[in-house]
Amino acid sequence: MKRILCVDDIQANLFTLEALFETNYSDKYSVVTAMSGKEALEILLFQKIDLILLDVMMPDIDGYETAKFILSNKKTKDIPIVFLTAKKDQDTVSRCYEVGGVDYLSKPYNEQELFVRIKFHLDLIENKRVLEIEKKLSQDILDMQDNMVIVSDGSKMIKINRTVNEFFKFKDFKNEKYCICKHFVEEEGYFHLGFVEKTQQWIDILLKMLEKKDVLVLMKNIDTLELNSFDIKAKKFGKDFLITLTDITSFDAESKYNEHEAYYDSLTNIYNRTKLNDLFSKQIQKAKTYHNPFAFLMLDIDYFKAVNDNYGHLLGDEVLIDMTKIIKSNIRESDIFARWGGEEFVLILPSVDLKKAEEIANYLRIKIQEYDFAEIGKITCSFGLTLYKDEDCIDSIIKRADVALYDAKDAGRNKVCILS
Ligand code: GH3
Ligand code: MG
Ligand code: MG
Repeated sequence: MKRILCVDDIQANLFTLEALFETNYSDKYSVVTAMSGKEALEILLFQKIDLILLDVMMPDIDGYETAKFILSNKKTKDIPIVFLTAKKDQDTVSRCYEVGGVDYLSKPYNEQELFVRIKFHLDLIENKRVLEIEKKLSQDILDMQDNMVIVSDGSKMIKINRTVNEFFKFKDFKNEKYCICKHFVEEEGYFHLGFVEKTQQWIDILLKMLEKKDVLVLMKNIDTLELNSFDIKAKKFGKDFLITLTDITSFDAESKYNEHEAYYDSLTNIYNRTKLNDLFSKQIQKAKTYHNPFAFLMLDIDYFKAVNDNYGHLLGDEVLIDMTKIIKSNIRESDIFARWGGEEFVLILPSVDLKKAEEIANYLRIKIQEYDFAEIGKITCSFGLTLYKDEDCIDSIIKRADVALYDAKDAGRNKVCILS
């Protein structure tokens, strides 16, 4: 039941209205009457009113003033006011709307029209209320999500949830006129604006990528200043896009750690044998496809057992670490360096001939020979060198390098021997 407040200083007008409602819509509307603006305001203080039919010309406070009072009060400002007045001039009509009336009907009014308008304004209010509830509900649902949720039109964020705000600490989100992509840090393995050309929209490129694989982005946490990694998902919805970002920093770190554990030697932090085998077969594949040979070098520390025996295992470890540092700082970026096991190391040297490879080996040999190892002094290495041949596989190359290494040991150590 909707409650209608009718305000008119003429009792007869109120009687007519009451009778109208009673005859036609006694099941839908109940009527409350007031004979002055003052009385209307008093009623509004204590009763819940859904719509007001307000006369303009009244002694003391007229309809305009009454409307102003009603609309300036927080409690009553949303109640629709329909003016009913005998005055028909343009000024009156304009003022009715200026002071905040939602509608105007001149007396004598058509009864059917009156009820149609009342229903129209009550429906409007109801729809507005439902929309507001839905808006609040959708924000509540977004805020309940632990991952970041963003509605974007592609160039700026339209709606965000609590998690986004907690991460970026926006002071006034409504004024953030850019999109989330601005925060993507450029790093290998992560999606960022470097993938997007000037003529392209970042969201289109992202959607294309997502058709094929999972996509990660990296963003800086405002609080910790640390980079966090996120699994990003996007979906077109209407003319906008729904974007979700799930923080996977801890998983990402764990998987990176696991990968490191699996492929790197824990003492020297260079590739281990597993990784070497992987890179070795790729190198052979490349050499076969592009007829681009490479050299393979195996090196072994001379009399290393004596180092351990004389100085202890810990200092022996230090020698292994220093040895990798010497070699690492004297090879090219494209060279593959790995610990073969114990005090033996291997090097794959792409795109070199035998002469060049021998020069590199001797260069490294001398660098090691010249180095002063802490507490121990001088240490040398022996080298076995070979060049890839078309019919080679991993084992055949290793075998030749190994034989060459034995030759170097036999020849008195601190030597480079070649078996081609
Ligand atoms: P050669 O000149 O013939 O190569 O003599 P060598 O003493 O270097 O060779 P040998 O194979 O007899 O000894 C290798 C030594 O390397 C024995 C082993 O304890 C030591 N070793 C292997 N791995 C490690 C390691 O991770 N740390 C330390 N400190 N020593 C290691
Ligand atoms: Mg050895
Ligand atoms: Mg040795």
